[in-house]
Order: sequence, then structure tokens, then C-alpha cells
Amino acid sequence: FKYIDSIPRVSVKIHSNHRLGSGQFGTVYKAIWKKDECQTIECAVKSLNENASPEVNEEFCKEMTSMQRLAHSNIVRFFGVILDMPIFMVMEYCDGGALVDRLKNSNRPLLLTTMINYAEQIVDGMCYLASQKVVHRDLAARNILLTKGEKVVKIGDLGLARIVYDNTYVQVQRRKLPIAWTAPEALFNRLFSHASDVWAFGVTLWEMFSYGEEPWSTFSPTELANELRKGAKLRRTPRCPTPIYELMLKCWRDAPESRPEFSQLKEDLPKTQFEIYECLEL
Ligand code: ATP
Repeated sequence: FKYIDSIPRVSVKIHSNHRLGSGQFGTVYKAIWKKDECQTIECAVKSLNENASPEVNEEFCKEMTSMQRLAHSNIVRFFGVILDMPIFMVMEYCDGGALVDRLKNSNRPLLLTTMINYAEQIVDGMCYLASQKVVHRDLAARNILLTKGEKVVKIGDLGLARIVYDNTYVQVQRRKLPIAWTAPEALFNRLFSHASDVWAFGVTLWEMFSYGEEPWSTFSPTELANELRKGAKLRRTPRCPTPIYELMLKCWRDAPESRPEFSQLKEDLPKTQFEIYECLEL
């Protein structure tokens, strides 16, 4: 743990009755961190299940180490860790919850312009990660958090993130993968890169413009793997504008090197907005 900032347990007041959610690593709670005499910060703490296996423990510590040096307005800020047992990770609190849940709220559907703006913010965060040579490996709408009155979205959950030295990370250990978001070369050859993150971004766009539908929901993992091996692609959902779907298809090109880079997507996304309005005016 020598690289991780340690936060004294007494300085953090965890609201154990304010559970924000839970994932494969443990449970997330709201908390208040008294950083020093003058600063009190609202935060989210993620506990590690006490009965977690050594592998999960190690995975959790990797997440903390990789998040520590990252600082960008569209990445969930990692403040440090409470090292006494049970271990807690202390991070920025995002009051709007997960994007996937917001998308499903049909009483207040998100506007098209808002969704394109969110997509641009995600791309900004991913450009930053790419510049830091970090491959996220778990980009999905469940890992995007809303904050600041739903104006800002942040990429969270860097549990699978890895630093890459020659643009590709070869996964050694076998582990569960989010198949529906995973590029074929990552799924079948364990090759993760910025290009496989671009594939996952395409699936995240699909989730957004299908208002929180689950990708490939009717397929079993084996069926889905077979479909992906054959080159199957998610279909356009009725409310998804064609220019956005065309962008998704570029993200899902079979050859990783033929997919656009995040820097290219940053240029392409604003153009789609323009194209959508042109179509609407016709
Ligand atoms: P997994 O960890 O298995 O990939 P996950 O991303 O859903 O799954 P967590 O990262 O543990 O799991 O988050 C669980 C839930 O807690 C999220 O869906 C979100 O609603 C909430 N949450 C997580 N981090 C924060 C945060 N920083 N601020 C506010 N809520 C959060």
C-alpha cells in the first residue's frame, strides 16, 4: 500500500444508513471527510467486502493506486484510502447517481442535446485517460456518474484500469468480463487497448440512445460470444439518430486500428449534432 494516500479513520464520518449502491468489490456509502481544520468534504466511500478473496483485495488496491494520480473534471476524483480493516476507498461524491439509472427514468427523459453533451464529456475524460496511458476496460453507462445538477458526468470505477506502455495490455489472469461491452480482440485474445475502450464507448453510446436498455439482453454469454465471433453488431434502436448510430458502427469496426481514436471522436461528436438538426429541418 506504500503508494496510496492514507486517510485517518477518525476524520471520516460514514453515513451507514445512506447506501449509494454496491458492485462486485463492495458497498458504496455517502460520507463526510474532515480533511483539515478548515475543509470538510462530502465524499463517497467504497468498502471492500470483509470476506473478499486475496485476488479481489489485490484488484481493489490496484483500482486505488491507478485512480490516485488522475485529475480531470470528467473522472471521479480519488482522495485516498482508510487503511484499517475494513478498507475504505474515499472518492468524490457524485450526487446524481449512475447514468444508466438516469437514462431509465422515463418521467424525465434526457434531451438529445444533453446526451450528446454527456457523450462529449465522456470522450474528454477518455482522451485524458489515453494521454495518461490508462486503459479503462470497464467503460459502460453503469460506470458514468452524474453531478452538479446533472450538468457534469464523470467516469468512475477504474477497478479494471491498467497502465499501458506499448498501447496494449495483455490480460494474464482469466476473469469475468462484461462481454456485451468487450471488443472481440479483448474477448478472444485478451488484448486490451485504447481501441477496445473505443469499442466500449460505442456500446455506452448505444445504452444512452436506447434510454438505458441492456445491450444483447436476450443472449446468454455463450450465445453472445458466438454472435460476436461472427461479427454481429448491436442494432439501431428507434430513437437513436442515424449519425450517432454511424459513429457507433465506426467504434465497432473489427480491426482495432481502423476504429477512430478518442481524439477523433472529440471532433466527430459535435458534427453529429449538426447533422441531426439538418435532418430534422428537412
Ligand atoms: P462493479 O464495481 O461491479 O463494476 P458498479 O460500478 O455498479 O459495479 P460500484 O462502483 O461499487 O459498482 O458502484 C455501485 C453504485 O454506487 C453505483 O451504481 C452508483 O449508483 C453508486 N456510486 C458509486 N460511486 C459513487 C460516487 N462516487 N458517488 C455517488 N454514487 C456512487
